[in-house]
Amino acid sequence: MTVTPMMAQFLEIKQAHPGSLLFYRMGDFYEMFFDDAVAAAEALDIALTKRGKHDGEDIPMCGVPVHSAEGYLLTLIRKGFRVAVCEQLENPAEAKKRGSKSVVKRGVVRLVTPGTLSEDSLLNARQHNYLAAFAQVRDAAALAWLDMSTGAFRVMPLDQMRLGPELARLAPSELIVMDASEPDLTELVSDFGISMTPLSRATFDSTGGEKRLCELFSVQTLDAFGSFDRAQISAMGAIVEYLNITQKGKLPLVRPPQQEDQLGQVQIDAATRRNLELTHALSGGRAGSLLATIDKTLTAGGARLLERRLSSPSRNVRIIQDRLDAVGFFLDNSLSNALTERLRHVPDLDRALSRLSLDRGGPRDLTAIRDGLTQAAAIAQDGLGTDAPQAVTDALTRMGGMDDLIDLMDDALVAEPPLLARDGGFIAPGYDADLDEARTLRDEGRSVIAAMQQEFAKVTGISSLKIKHNNVLGYFIETTATHAEKMLSPPLSETFIHRQTTANQVRFTTVELSEMETKILNAGNRAIETEKRLYQMLSDTVLAKAAEIFQTATALAELDVSCALARLARSEDWCRPQVDDSRAFDIVGGRHPVVEKSLRDGSGAPFIANDCNLTAEDGSNIWLLTGPNMAGKSTFLRQNALIALLAQMGSYVPATTARIGVISQLFSRVGAADDLARGRSTFMVEMVETAAILNQADDRALVILDEIGRGTATYDGLSIAWATLEHLHDGNKSRALFATHYHELTALAGKLDHVDNATVAVKEFDGEVVFLHEVQKGAADRSYGVQVAQLAGLPPSVIARARTVLEALEKGEREGGATQKAIIDDLPLFSMQATAPAPKAAKSPVLDLISDLHPDEMTPKQALDALYKLKEAA
Ligand code: ADP
Repeated sequence: MTVTPMMAQFLEIKQAHPGSLLFYRMGDFYEMFFDDAVAAAEALDIALTKRGKHDGEDIPMCGVPVHSAEGYLLTLIRKGFRVAVCEQLENPAEAKKRGSKSVVKRGVVRLVTPGTLSEDSLLNARQHNYLAAFAQVRDAAALAWLDMSTGAFRVMPLDQMRLGPELARLAPSELIVMDASEPDLTELVSDFGISMTPLSRATFDSTGGEKRLCELFSVQTLDAFGSFDRAQISAMGAIVEYLNITQKGKLPLVRPPQQEDQLGQVQIDAATRRNLELTHALSGGRAGSLLATIDKTLTAGGARLLERRLSSPSRNVRIIQDRLDAVGFFLDNSLSNALTERLRHVPDLDRALSRLSLDRGGPRDLTAIRDGLTQAAAIAQDGLGTDAPQAVTDALTRMGGMDDLIDLMDDALVAEPPLLARDGGFIAPGYDADLDEARTLRDEGRSVIAAMQQEFAKVTGISSLKIKHNNVLGYFIETTATHAEKMLSPPLSETFIHRQTTANQVRFTTVELSEMETKILNAGNRAIETEKRLYQMLSDTVLAKAAEIFQTATALAELDVSCALARLARSEDWCRPQVDDSRAFDIVGGRHPVVEKSLRDGSGAPFIANDCNLTAEDGSNIWLLTGPNMAGKSTFLRQNALIALLAQMGSYVPATTARIGVISQLFSRVGAADDLARGRSTFMVEMVETAAILNQADDRALVILDEIGRGTATYDGLSIAWATLEHLHDGNKSRALFATHYHELTALAGKLDHVDNATVAVKEFDGEVVFLHEVQKGAADRSYGVQVAQLAGLPPSVIARARTVLEALEKGEREGGATQKAIIDDLPLFSMQATAPAPKAAKSPVLDLISDLHPDEMTPKQALDALYKLKEAA
């Protein structure tokens, strides 16, 4: 079998990168071959062609232009592919020198995977993009995660039970696990829609990992960053190794690892996160989520920090107070207007820096850093010395001190540079004399030549002398044959060198002119080369200050978040919550921020504020909430959970006043959809989630249960709800809100010390319900289910019938003794005519035929014939 040298090279590279599509660079295209081509052509919806033969078969091929490759990459990554980018490592001329048959040297320079993206166009500016690794060493487990685009690197110890909730919190786009991990793990990861990358055991070896980490951070030991166990080192080491593999040795900037403490944050499981629509709405998008409603940040870094805070509310009263102080400071401070204005002009420092470190940056990343640092310096100057609280002063002091770098970049860079360094044009005039000269020659070559022409005319005294240009001679001096004589003889012949004589003209050059020519020709190249060198110098200078720039970026993000939360609090009239170590939960005038906003944007109806007091010391820590459907029970339940989370992330809250003793865990069981993909019914999902709550909730947890037991038969459901409530009360002792449509449960309030009844009020008016959305102490008198059904548009006949059945059932219950069967037997028959006349049946020939039949008198044969006749007539 003969294989062309190029195909041999392709096959070799392809073999070294199984599992990835190979983008094989050929001139201005990335080409794909064989199965890669078939898969990519389908995924990208581009033409599949063929090129040459292999093993006697056509080789399928498709390709994408290099200049628009990013868009295609994004599509492929989104569709779950990984891509190995294989570049030409020399230019074709060099290959030719080695022999006519030599192929251009090529090599994979980068593996593009979901967790290792760095391009702006491939990333969402306002969201982190995490690459995570899960490691287990003996009994210990750990999760490490890195946002390669910002350098943020974190790790936490973990028991495997907690992996799901943490994956839900971080939502990494890629998870590295050890080869041949348990099937449970694979299922869990795929449930979260995370791309899973199994790597060898060696990648997870903690000794090797430690070495890699020490090398990366240039330290002797990792102790400076904290004390990490083997599992944590293994997880972090695996991430570094994966960077080596995917970035082919060119490591991005990684910040020193920060250890996160599971106990530092409110623990929220995946279902609760989803149900409460914290960062994503149930429909999947960001719109309609709590995050989208509260996000008023102005910078990408600020948006990412806000998302992080909302995903991980704190349990530390000190931290919460500090953050609230910062928000309070900006709430009524003239500084915040100036700050807002400056923040609007702060670019994404983290990502610019990360791209520079990977050599994937451009002049705009340099100016992004210049502009960001400039704003930061100005902000620091405005703010320092004011009576700002600790958190704000801390941020301000971390931002200054880079005036030299700012000055350098101010001098060196133009205001708005082009995208690519290779195009040049980003270094400011006046910064580098050599560059200025090169540019002058390039741009003003003509006028330089024109000036020379004048000079030559003067020297020779030939006013008609011209400097011209053609492709053969380049620049030359031309004069008519009559004047030529003078130039061919001394002393002029010493300067002017004869080049060519044509019919009427004689052409000359001079040393000066040919030097100038070379200079002009090279000027363009020289300008570009000089700019590239200066770019590298600036990039190196910036990277040498990476740690300080990261610090500034973090400080800017913190100020942005505080300032944005202050603006939100002011425009939405939110209050500062009192957060302490008590067991209080006392919300006065609480609102649901998302429902309130959608009412305002929609019907314009006002949101009715409601109180909620679960402070056990002076009353009950469980409220049992009854009321008809649509009254606002779920809204009330969720709003209280959201208020607690907002308070603990350090935000003001939608309420008149709020006092919250720190919450350790938040659980919610709120209406689930069938999880058919995993073969679980609604009821099963509900019970699994309820079990998790009853097994885990402690006395600092906040639990929200909506309609427990709804998914099964009435008495089963009631009994389960009953027992669950008792367990929460006696066992878990959590603060809880329990919404139910089982009125029977309200009796429990009298039996259990810490349970109170509450109900969402409705009024009945002309047989119709009016929802007041007011939560009051006490039990609902009835469920108004029939009235709600009527509002929903059930046919009048069904509503009338439902009323009759309801009356009979209620009568039976009042009089006692009557069994359900007896009541049902006594019911008058259902009749459509009861309220609406049935539509008249149209006369049909088949009906005529049927009415003529007398079945009792027919033989089997006649019956069969009649059947055939009917069939014919139908
Ligand atoms: P339930 O859980 O009792 O069936 P929901 O909480 O789903 O009721 O509320 C139904 C609708 O009532 C919501 O979509 C919202 O439009 C409206 N609503 C709920 N609570 C309030 C309130 N406090 N003020 C105004 N409207 C409300």
